[in-house]
Amino acid sequence: MPDAVEARSPQRHATPAAMAAIAARDLAPNQAPPLAGRNLYDADRALQEALDRAGAGWAQGELRRLGELAGEPAIIELGFLANRHAPQLLSHDRYGNRLDIVDFHPAYHQLMALGCEFGLHSSPWAEPRVGSHAARAGAVLLFGQIESGTQCPLTMTYAATALLTRHASALPALRETWLPRIHVRSYDRRFAPIEGKRGATIGMGMTEKQGGSDVRGNLSIAEPVARSGSGEPYRITGHKWFMSAPMSDAFLVLAQAEGGLSLFFVPRFLPDGTVNAIHYQRLKDKLGNRSNASSEVEFHDALGWLIGEEGRGVSNIVEMLTYCRLDCAVSSAGLMRSAVAMAVHHAEHRNCAGRALIGETLMQQVLADLTLDVEAAVALSFRLARSFDRARDPRAAAWRRLMTPVTKYWVTKIAAPLMAEAMECLGGNGYVEEWPLALLYREAPVNAIWEGSGNVMALDVLRVLQREPGVVELVTDELRAATAGDAALSAAFDRLLAVLYEPRLLDARARQLVEDLAKLAGAAILRSQGNMAVADAFIATRILGRARSTYGQGLESFDLKALLERATPNRPG
Ligand SMILES: Cc1cc2nc3c(=O)[nH]c(=O)nc-3n(C[C@H](O)[C@H](O)[C@H](O)COP(=O)(O)OP(=O)(O)OC[C@H]3O[C@@H](n4cnc5c(N)ncnc54)[C@H](O)[C@@H]3O)c2cc1C
Repeated sequence: MPDAVEARSPQRHATPAAMAAIAARDLAPNQAPPLAGRNLYDADRALQEALDRAGAGWAQGELRRLGELAGEPAIIELGFLANRHAPQLLSHDRYGNRLDIVDFHPAYHQLMALGCEFGLHSSPWAEPRVGSHAARAGAVLLFGQIESGTQCPLTMTYAATALLTRHASALPALRETWLPRIHVRSYDRRFAPIEGKRGATIGMGMTEKQGGSDVRGNLSIAEPVARSGSGEPYRITGHKWFMSAPMSDAFLVLAQAEGGLSLFFVPRFLPDGTVNAIHYQRLKDKLGNRSNASSEVEFHDALGWLIGEEGRGVSNIVEMLTYCRLDCAVSSAGLMRSAVAMAVHHAEHRNCAGRALIGETLMQQVLADLTLDVEAAVALSFRLARSFDRARDPRAAAWRRLMTPVTKYWVTKIAAPLMAEAMECLGGNGYVEEWPLALLYREAPVNAIWEGSGNVMALDVLRVLQREPGVVELVTDELRAATAGDAALSAAFDRLLAVLYEPRLLDARARQLVEDLAKLAGAAILRSQGNMAVADAFIATRILGRARSTYGQGLESFDLKALLERATPNRPG
């Protein structure tokens, strides 16, 4: 039985019918029923609209199927299990021979199988069509509501495949052996040479002890086995301080060659079937993302094949990171969506002093306010995904270049505080590990840290402003057009423009600029969607409103019912 199917087996986990039977019995008073047995896609109007706008409406059937699964108690339970039973490193066998393998709970493998079944690791490359990156982003948003640790290897494979595809002509094994196995929608957990496997995943190793943001300072060394050049094998010696998903079949690794920092394709097994010299030292004990193994690793003359030219490592890895950054934003939007749905669900079923929390003015203010950030996060993330789908169009390419760091910065950064407020809506239950919000909360900060932390994103935006004026012009033209006709947004756009062209102050104001740009773009997208209840409230509180540091303010004159309707988890859209 395939892993993902086995996971749905009613013998092992409560089915919706079993849940209903439990609910019919005399249970603890005034507790919300489990939030399960619903279709996460059908309940998410913001997602459906975003996909339509991104030209990915064709993916509806598959996403509805994933939405259905993501709401099943058995699948939800997998996320808990994979995180409760963290992976273990088996560095040696009992004789002292090196093993360098990681043992995962079966739930991890079942989730990986599910992710691959829905193409999260490669669908836009395997089945390219208009809207395929956005459609995959829809699957990422839904999948992340089950579990996020497994998203890491799926994302890295998706991102690495962009590069591997481009460089496949220099390395026949990529074209003939690796890409066909990445493209298939199957997960093969076995630690075995690639030739005998029916699926493959790829990881990446950049971060070293002395620095992750500044990869130019990498100390690992690469020396050609015989000849230097693209597609040639090199011997790599050095370490990586973070290398996640160590059971991936190969890694993209940065190391210093004679021509400078370069990127290498480093498989776990060599073409002769022996194990490559990749030695795991430890697994990190992390705050969240616990289902995913993140290793410390050493390379002892490990063989790696040069991707592109020597000295082009940074530009190659940046291309890969751009895809990862999209996923960070989409996945954070999914976490936020999930947290707010749980908060609304709880408020609908919990009474205080005999009255449903959802009817209380202050609770409505808080929930509606949270909803606005989810709406903007979804709108920005899918607008970004759309630009990945149309990268040949100069306007889309410009949006992708400037708005990737902007979107990654803002969406991932608002996730953690939003999660804390949503948790508070559940009262003490929210803080208890048995409840799903604790898992989401511990997951939230990592998307802001990895793949370029906040300051690094802000500096990337400054780099675009200083070096790529054409990109800035195309994006600002688009924002000017989108904000025209709305006095508040036009004025905000003019203020932003004044900062953009004030180079003396830009360094110190980079974060302010990025946040303003994200909120303005988010507001403009919400407004262009025509959902004025959401757009007006977002503009009033995030652009015009007075500065504040907590949720639940400034919405007294808005139609909260309309806002909450979109966040309500149980009503299909
Ligand atoms: C769970 C997890 C899994 C990971 N998996 C992987 C993996 O698979 N592969 C991999 O290669 N890496 C991985 N990483 C590493 C991650 O990408 C790095 O931690 C991240 O890039 C930051 O690098 P650093 O930790 O060295 O921090 P630093 O680079 O030292 O940064 C520290 C702080 O300084 C800020 N900063 C940096 N430069 C500047 C500057 N010029 N001006 C102002 N501020 C600055 C940063 O924004 C950050 O806030 C993982 C990390 C985590 C937490």
